[in-house]
Amino acid sequence: MARYRQIASAVAAFLFVATAVDACAPVDFHALPLPSDPEHPVAASLELAFPGAVTVSPQTGSWSVEGGPWHPLGTPDTGPRSESVLQAELIDQFRIPYPLEFDMAARSEAWFDPGRARSATFFSELWFSDEAAARASLTTVAEPALSDVRYRVTRRHGVDCQLSAVLRDLAGIPGMAPFFQDPGGSFNWRRIAGTDRLSAHSYGIAVDINAALGGYWRWSGRPEGNAGEYETRIPEELVRAFERRGFIWGGKWHHFDGMHFEYRPELILHSRLISSPE
Ligand SMILES: [Zn+2]
Repeated sequence: MARYRQIASAVAAFLFVATAVDACAPVDFHALPLPSDPEHPVAASLELAFPGAVTVSPQTGSWSVEGGPWHPLGTPDTGPRSESVLQAELIDQFRIPYPLEFDMAARSEAWFDPGRARSATFFSELWFSDEAAARASLTTVAEPALSDVRYRVTRRHGVDCQLSAVLRDLAGIPGMAPFFQDPGGSFNWRRIAGTDRLSAHSYGIAVDINAALGGYWRWSGRPEGNAGEYETRIPEELVRAFERRGFIWGGKWHHFDGMHFEYRPELILHSRLISSPE
């Protein structure tokens, strides 16, 4: 009987480990194989970033989340870029390709804010339309080796799994802990300062690192549309660790938010798809 119990507990332990591993298999968005020469890079990026959740029909120019209603992709904005930030349709999220390189020159152009355009309809369908639903999906991701940082993020579409992988990777690189001291925050159902648009933090898909080291255009006293240069203290390897797991960095925006990382794997994949053939 004791022998039986031993075997049973070994099997149970194995199943537990196997389940835990299965439950979190982080994706490397820098290495994920891409279709060659896709007809519709926006459709391909969205469907690869959120497999089984987002469906795009290039024929009808529409999208749907998990069998829900179909919505138009929209007509690309051709006016000032500020319009895409203020009111975006899904297609406008891809208007400015997110730079894959650690290139701080691109952001000198006014309103070069890749990722700041967010379709409210898309975000509410892909993530959450109300605070209670967002809260119910939260979990804590912590890393003792990085100033014991603790972030509240959603489990939806594996965001917690992707963030755990980022923190684990960074914990293995010396000198990263100070960037996670006094972190700016994570889940927070709120409007973006000075606007009536919901912040990405509302959905549990964004985290802020050390606010003192990041740099933020609103605190710099510069006017909107003319945020100018800033000196970043965030190292490239930190940014790359996040990007690899699907998080874009606000430090690359004209309206710089150097502490801000946000889960937008579709933008990383789209940039890869439209750049040099692989
Ligand atoms: Zn933020």
